[in-house]
Amino acid sequence: MSTVLTQTVRPLPESRDKATQAGNYFVSNYPPFSFWSPKNVGDLHAALDTPPAADTPLGLYVHIPFCRKRCHFCYFKVYTDKNADAISRYIDGLIAELKIYADKAFLGGRTPNFVYFGGGTPSYLSAKQLTQLTDGLKSVLSWDKVEEVTFECEPGTLQEHKLQAIRDFGVTRLSFGIENFSDHILEINGRAHLSKQVYRAYGWARQIGFPQINIDLISGMLEETEENWIENVRKTIELDPDCVTIYQMEIPFNTTIYKGMKEAGKLTAPVADWDTKRRWVKYAFDELAKHGYEISSAYTAVKNKAQTKFIYRDALWEGADLLSVGVASFGHIHGVHYQNVKDIEPYCDTVEAGDLPVFRALKITPEEALIREMILQMKRGRLDVSYFREKFGVDITERFAEEWEHFAAEGFVTVSKDEVVLDRDALLQVDTMLHEFMLPEHREARYT
Ligand code: SF4
Repeated sequence: MSTVLTQTVRPLPESRDKATQAGNYFVSNYPPFSFWSPKNVGDLHAALDTPPAADTPLGLYVHIPFCRKRCHFCYFKVYTDKNADAISRYIDGLIAELKIYADKAFLGGRTPNFVYFGGGTPSYLSAKQLTQLTDGLKSVLSWDKVEEVTFECEPGTLQEHKLQAIRDFGVTRLSFGIENFSDHILEINGRAHLSKQVYRAYGWARQIGFPQINIDLISGMLEETEENWIENVRKTIELDPDCVTIYQMEIPFNTTIYKGMKEAGKLTAPVADWDTKRRWVKYAFDELAKHGYEISSAYTAVKNKAQTKFIYRDALWEGADLLSVGVASFGHIHGVHYQNVKDIEPYCDTVEAGDLPVFRALKITPEEALIREMILQMKRGRLDVSYFREKFGVDITERFAEEWEHFAAEGFVTVSKDEVVLDRDALLQVDTMLHEFMLPEHREARYT
């Protein structure tokens, strides 16, 4: 791979991430999932029977586990072989599951402030199925107070009438999983769509007038080159989305790519190393900034920061309740994390019997809640010291003084009495940094 970009990213002092090895680097929650257990499911039931803490927002997450084909880097449980009857049964199951929650005390009269359709591929469903699903969900819990509805879509599954239906049932933030503009790279990574489908679907979405369009890219897919990455950034800017989200390729253990590594006895994944992936994201952020975007998190650039909100992300990072429905989905209610059963048959059987399909849970301690919010909010590049003092009664500059000093010594963070600010290079490797703030027993979970 030839290098044409001059940007560099200063590596963190303890950086051990040079080559891309198998494991999860992206920190999406805390404590890690491996600490959640079936023996704690009773804690979720107790939380559901407890009225909510004052002013806790409520989100609804709806998981759609179907995809046209499985991407080689995918680590989710997805189904590529379900027929219309199986999908219809699943849709009824989602509505049935929501009904089980509807009369529990934790709601305390709340209805959702935001809704997120994730997967899998929510846009795999037909317009008719989606309308049936959303009508059913709204009949259980009103969407009158909903401020944002996010919907993930795969470009090749969209038609104009389906996008119109998606807008009509209330989606405000449409998120395109583009990942790359090169058909060769899309194919070699097992993606189902091609670039011409991106342009067609994006044009319809703009015409229909979604308030916010996000596009997802991945830095460092199989066979990515620096020249192609530059082209990806150029094409992204040309499309002029409201928001651009860039992930750095990781290779979790249950991916097709990892299986290939294992069979070949290789420890290093056949993708760019971490320095290169960060350099590419830095380049993308710099180019986006030149075209009027602002960096709103480690992964996100937005056109107009004051207007282009991502309520789902910010509410979760600030401790909102997330009522999550669907197979294998993750939720958080009243200080208890939970995940549903991972297979679709037992999921449907359980909700049809009127029972909650929860598989494992974890009640978090006040200290874990503090760490969770702090490390998630670090992904925005700035921490407000007074927020944590007021909410948790803790001065984070004192509680984590040693850790801040470690990163401040080389200019990665600046700490004052009011705020902690991460510099851009720190932000580009924030997921590595976050492990330093976890309790000792949680630090190595990404390698297990
Ligand atoms: S579209 Fe997303 S969920 Fe579906 S297989 Fe690809 S990475 Fe996995």
